[in-house]
Parts: sequence; structure tokens; C-alpha cells
Amino acid sequence: MKKIPDLVSTQKAAFRKGVNRSLKQRIANLKKLRKLVLNHEKELCNAIAEDFGKPYFETFTSEIFTVLQEIDFHLKHLSKWIKPENVSGTIATFPSKSTVSRQPYGTVLVIGAWNYPIYLTLIPMIGALSGGNTVVLKPSEISGTISGLLHELISSAFPNQLISVVEGGVPETQELLFQPFDKIFFTGSSRVGKIVAKAAAEQLIPITLELGGKSPAIVHSDANVEVSARRIWWGKTINAGQVCVAPDFVLIHESAADVFIKESRKTLSTFYAGDFRPGTNYARIVNRDHFDRLSALLEKSDVIIGGTANPDSLFIEPTLISAGWDDEIMKDEIFGPLLPMLTYKSEDEVIERLNTLPAPLALYMFTESERFQSAIFRDVPFGGGCVNETITHLANPNLPFGGVGQSGMGAYHGRYSFDTFTRPQAILKKSFWPDPDFRYPPFDDTKLKWFKKLFF
Ligand code: NAD
Repeated sequence: MKKIPDLVSTQKAAFRKGVNRSLKQRIANLKKLRKLVLNHEKELCNAIAEDFGKPYFETFTSEIFTVLQEIDFHLKHLSKWIKPENVSGTIATFPSKSTVSRQPYGTVLVIGAWNYPIYLTLIPMIGALSGGNTVVLKPSEISGTISGLLHELISSAFPNQLISVVEGGVPETQELLFQPFDKIFFTGSSRVGKIVAKAAAEQLIPITLELGGKSPAIVHSDANVEVSARRIWWGKTINAGQVCVAPDFVLIHESAADVFIKESRKTLSTFYAGDFRPGTNYARIVNRDHFDRLSALLEKSDVIIGGTANPDSLFIEPTLISAGWDDEIMKDEIFGPLLPMLTYKSEDEVIERLNTLPAPLALYMFTESERFQSAIFRDVPFGGGCVNETITHLANPNLPFGGVGQSGMGAYHGRYSFDTFTRPQAILKKSFWPDPDFRYPPFDDTKLKWFKKLFF
């Protein structure tokens, strides 16, 4: 393995030589990646199961399938996206032709989080390749088995002047952040996002930050509580709640709270029927640190349903908690299967409360009231979300995925990924004729008068 600075300079030289510039090259590279993922489905799913017991079904549907869908979307549209776009001119630029073309940044760094280790590395990488860049990929050290496998598979299929995987933790990431990348795409916590932003600022490197936050699920008085409970618990229990867009807490109209508790009990018993054995339907907490953090929250909470935890198997049961705004569990992103429930009386109270918290990555509303929906969308900032659903806005490559404020900056998926990994280049083309004297010095009042008459 080359040293990190050599790796980056090799990639930069390869970029200048056009290693992934033409449409044909980009398509070939995307197809190669598609084949690699398809051919290694089992090993990829098993590696994640080894890291934190994520069920095969979950890894296939939320990581393998989504990566393949994203590649197919780029393969379908890339020839259109890559074409320079003609735009109109103005009287001041007449006669001329104006075009905008999307240029790759060059050599980009993609840093991933551990909880969706295939998705969070390969989906940004698809955008980077589709945009014509070379890529250095840094998966998370926390999911070490899948990080090693990605390294092995990618190095066997691609030259490291096009894609290099750098494994490691904080020291390796810090060293990467010193390199002269042309763009950095980071997925992880807001805390580390700030470290990345500071390092990038030193070299004025453009960044996209995909961070986390406390995403609310609002259940209004008119909601179908049975379906709401099922969809909220689905969003809270996949990957044992270790999802950046998991509903972090439920904000429920006081008239619907009792029914929500009843429906939650029913839902959880049908999802798992008490069977939480590893390797079946429910993932483990990724490591002892996270387990201890969640257990400490659990100990201080008023549990309504669930509440068991086992440090030996890093298991925490899906747990409904009765909470108040000042409770410990309402301070930071939970990132685990604990669901605090808080009640509200009025729509205005929801808007006021949510505006006291940092802008979340996602927001979910369970209501048919268009008026309430519009009020929330207008008055509460958040990255993206769903009405009467959780999480699946990520499954549509026509929708941008990204946060705002503390939950991130920039967006990706589909066309948004292509735009994120390319920059608009403006070109105005003229012929040598005509070339009137009018614009050139010496200037005088007559010229100014004519200018005002023509353009003002
Ligand atoms: P993290 O911020 O701890 O780590 C992310 C990456 O940063 C890893 O590759 C890690 O090696 C590196 N890193 C860690 N500490 C560093 C340091 N001091 N200096 C430089 N690099 C460092 O996040 P995580 O625990 O892997 O993931 C959980 C967080 O990520 C949650 O907040 C979650 O909401 C967020 N997340 C966001 C998205 C999204 O798409 N917006 C997706 C998944 C996770």
C-alpha cells in the first residue's frame, strides 16, 4: 500500500491524464462496480452481519439493492447530464453563445460512517465516478470486517490511481484531511463534521457534510395510529435504531397517546414475538461504548414497553419511553432502539418546540391535515422527510438527501450526486466579428449615452 500523500498525488496525476473523463470510461467503471457488488452479495452481507449482526434481509434491501439502483439510475441518465447546457444570453452579450458544462472536481475524498458501511461509501462513490473524478475512500474502522472486504474487493477490481481504499481510524483520517483533495464528502457525526470542515477550510476545499440529529416523528390527532405506530417502529428498529434518519422521538397529540402505546405493544409483539436471537430479525448495538451509552440513557428513563438489555450480546430491546423535554434522552441523537414519547396540545406548540432544537436530518408527520403539513414544512427547518411514512424518502433517487444546519450541508443521490461531485463551468463564446469600437477606451459621454439607450 502506498503512503497516503503518494496515493493522492498518483490519483491527481491520473485525473489530469483523463483516467475517468469520457462518458465511455465512466459508464465502464460504473458497470464494473455493479458487477462487483452483484457477484459478492453474500460476502458483503455476511461481513456486516459479523460486524454488528445486521440481518441479511436488511443489508440486501437497504445496502445492496440501493447501491445497484443508484448505479442503474446513473447509467440511465449520465449521457444527458454530461452534455453542456446552452443558456440564453442578454442584449449586453449579443452576439455570442453561452453554455454551462459540469466539470469533475478532480480527486475526491469520501469518508463513511459505520452504520450503513456499503451504502455510505459506495453511493457517494457512484456520484464521484459518474462525475468523472478519482476517489479515495475511507470506510469506518468501527465496522472493520466490511471495511477490510471493501478494500480487498475494490483493489482487486480497480487500479488505485482511480479508486483507493484507505482503512483506519482517527490518525489515518487526520492525515487524509491534510492532503490537497479537490472535494471532501463526509458522512458521520456533527462533532467530527466540524473537524472535517475546519481542516477543509485551511485549504479551501469544498465539502459536503452528511450528519445526524434528532429527527422527530409527529403523530397528530387525526392520524391512523395503528399504521403510524407500525411505520414508526419499522423506522426505529431497522439496524436497531442505528440509522441517521431513524425517528429519534415521537411527538404525539395528547388525545392519541394511549392508543399509540397500545398499538406499539401490538406492533412489537408481531415484529419479533419476543424472538431477538442474533442473526434473525434484529441487529446488535455496534460496540460496548455505544451499548454503555444507550444503557445509561435507559437507566434514567421511564420505560413504558421493553427495556431489557444484555451486555454480552450487545442487545437492547426496542423500548418506548415516557419523556419530558428536559430529560437526558432529549439532549443528543439517540442512535439506538430507544423511543421517547412526548405529548403536545396544539400545532403551534409543535412548531415552537421544534424550533428550539437544532435542525434535524429528517422529519416525519402522521396526519392528513394539509394545513398542518404546510405549516411545519414552512416554519421548521429539516433536511427531508415523509408524510405518513418514515425513512423511505431515501429510497427515491429522484429526491435529494442531505441535512441543514447541524445535520449537514449539501445533498446527494441521483442527479444531486452528479451535481455534488461536479462544478458548473460557464463559457461564453464569440466569433471575431463584429468587434465595434464602442466598448473600448477612450470613453466619452456619447458612448455612455448610447450605452444607456441600448441597455438601460
Ligand atoms: P463518526 O463521526 O464518529 O465517524 C465518521 C468517520 O469519521 C469515520 O470514518 C471515522 O473514522 C472518522 N473519524 C472519527 N473521529 C475522527 C476524528 N477525530 N478526526 C477525523 N476523523 C474522524 O460517526 P459514526 O459513529 O461512524 O456514525 C454515526 C453518526 O453518523 C451519527 O451521528 C449519524 O447520524 C451520522 N450518520 C449520518 C448519515 C447521513 O447520511 N447523514 C448516515 C449515517 C450516519
